[in-house]
Amino acid sequence: MTARLLIVGPQGSGKGTQGVRVGEALGVPVVSTGDVFRANVSQGTDLGRQVKSIIDAGDLVPDELTSAVVRDRLSQADAAEGFLLDGYPRNLAQVMHLDEFLEGRDEKLDAVIALVVPREESLARLTARATEQGRADDTEEAIATRLGIYERETAPILSVYGTRGIVDEIDGVGGLDEITARIFAALEARGLRPAR
Ligand code: AMP
Repeated sequence: MTARLLIVGPQGSGKGTQGVRVGEALGVPVVSTGDVFRANVSQGTDLGRQVKSIIDAGDLVPDELTSAVVRDRLSQADAAEGFLLDGYPRNLAQVMHLDEFLEGRDEKLDAVIALVVPREESLARLTARATEQGRADDTEEAIATRLGIYERETAPILSVYGTRGIVDEIDGVGGLDEITARIFAALEARGLRPAR
């Protein structure tokens, strides 16, 4: 079974945690652009040096650069039968880039998991994470920038995917297992069943 999925939600919606659970259950690699960028920053690569100040400020890395990173990753052998993208696409330009890439491979997305979490809840979770993990982009200012970008630029991508009938809106408030169960129920309704 192939499964090509996106998980979309504001920062602090738990999409990272849920994405890993879904990817593992379906047996597809999880590709988090945020994780790829952070790994490059900590390894001090050219890409890392290019993106560090952008990420620390909570701004978006340029679309061309981000899309090139994603194309490169999705071209690896382990993504041939599917993938779960976490944190990409994040705006309409990136939706177009992903469309072009997938069309070129005669592939299409199966589902877009949209985690719905109210702004106050995301804010509270991000502030708690800032204290626990000390991420450089979890300052109050960067958090506000990221949530603003989500509302202005990322939320509109759901309308585009919505017209294709592939969006599953999932209530992202509740216990971790409860939310995972909601996601699996939605995926099963599309014929996407966890392998284990
Ligand atoms: P995340 O872990 O998904 O919150 O991503 C952390 C940071 O990486 C973001 O605030 C952006 O600076 C950058 N980033 C991640 N994904 C993208 C993307 N699709 N487009 C542009 N920048 C991104």
